[in-house]
Amino acid sequence: MPPSKMPADTLRNWSNTGLARRLGAPRIPVLRRYSPGQPLLEGGPALVAAVGDGRFAKPIAALVAEHGATVVTETGDEKLAAVVLDLTEIATLSELAEAQRILTPAVRKLAPSGRLLLLGPVSGDGRHGDHRHSQGNAEAVAVAQALDGLVRSVAKELRAGATANMVVVDVDTTPAAVESTVRFLLSARSAYVDGQVVHVGAAEPAGVADPQRPLAGRVAVVTGAARGIGAAIADTLARDGATIVAVDVPAAGEGLAAVANRTGGTALQLDITASDAASRLLAFVEERFGRVDLVVHNAGITRDKLLANMDAERWDAVLAVNLGAQLTINEALLAAPDLLGPDARVVCVSSQTGIAGNRGQTNYAASKAGIIGMVRALAPRFAEHGATINAVAPGFIETEMTARMPLGTREAGRRVNSLRQGGLPVDVAETIGWLGQASSGAVNGQVVRVCGQSMLGA
Ligand code: NAD
Repeated sequence: MPPSKMPADTLRNWSNTGLARRLGAPRIPVLRRYSPGQPLLEGGPALVAAVGDGRFAKPIAALVAEHGATVVTETGDEKLAAVVLDLTEIATLSELAEAQRILTPAVRKLAPSGRLLLLGPVSGDGRHGDHRHSQGNAEAVAVAQALDGLVRSVAKELRAGATANMVVVDVDTTPAAVESTVRFLLSARSAYVDGQVVHVGAAEPAGVADPQRPLAGRVAVVTGAARGIGAAIADTLARDGATIVAVDVPAAGEGLAAVANRTGGTALQLDITASDAASRLLAFVEERFGRVDLVVHNAGITRDKLLANMDAERWDAVLAVNLGAQLTINEALLAAPDLLGPDARVVCVSSQTGIAGNRGQTNYAASKAGIIGMVRALAPRFAEHGATINAVAPGFIETEMTARMPLGTREAGRRVNSLRQGGLPVDVAETIGWLGQASSGAVNGQVVRVCGQSMLGA
């Protein structure tokens, strides 16, 4: 949607005026968002520290310094653009207390749109019997899980657009494996990702040649690309260097052509529920490019009715577009592994509604929850081909759909999250861009919410 047609968040705009300040009205922050060439961090140095022998603090400090930020190891007088605390080796309550002693002064100094990033151990990683976080060590498992409560709570306490997220790792996850995720979560690209815990496994991913164009040379299929979030995904992936295959129904041909033209990509008119849709899609990418590196399953529809009044057409249409088509295309991809690029990625667009449920949307919520199940089931199968499959679950996103909501519903939707505003289509797109990188190969089977830490389904 062109910015001129974006629904205005009038309350947020007003809350940033002089009058609102004089009246003492709470300020709704304007989030820092990514634009090419922008530094990774702004607004002060980054505090990077570890409790115990965390193996991530040093490489992350080097990464942050490489991106032009000053790194400090203790909180001083200056505002901090980011606080990164490596807690991957903590296993006792006294080590947890040490973390609190570092975090408390640090969060007081977090700059507007600052980033708090914790790294923690996967709670109860039973694969390594002799490790201190094995299921047998109740204190260590409890402490690992305690971090989950800590990060989700501090995310609710931060103000001025600052976010808190956590990366949890296996005992054999390397610093290289977490790099793309750390870069994303520290950057302005993750503006609306808040209160999330992302597991990064032990796969050794490809490095990124150019962090400014991390998708350079990659062929990306985006379904439902003619408008809304899908169009933003196509724009964002193209900005990051991908070659776009924009897919949508023939009836959306005009919008589709516009997206293909402005991204320098190609348009494929295709109803993804057609019986030959998967074979046509695969034949198209094979003929044009010989491979596909990224498939974004974004196309989705709603046909709302209370379950008591649900007819078969509404149920079937929603399940077919939102879930059935994704299942069929994913199976076709797995049946043609030669067509998958060396670091292929599949990203599915789920929804907060698939996690929280929503009145009048049993069909939609079933389809979006089904996506989460599908992603978990297919992750090991895609991994066999060096590929991954993940989902993003958007919360309240400012689109034409949300603009049409009655004012009361729209205002409620916008405010019930830690950032007290709706997200933008680009926020979903940036998250997909991160998961779509070759260097994100250690992130697999994850569901990342793009919801400003919505209270719904939390
Ligand atoms: P939208 O209706 O603006 O766009 C969806 C696109 O999918 C349209 O261009 C449509 O033509 C296309 N499409 C529908 N059926 C298709 C089919 N059979 N084959 C090919 N293309 C088809 O929707 P949006 O708001 O941009 O949502 C995009 C995705 O994000 C959807 O999966 C939606 O469920 C999800 N989502 C949106 C929000 C939100 O706040 N807007 C929140 C959570 C999740």
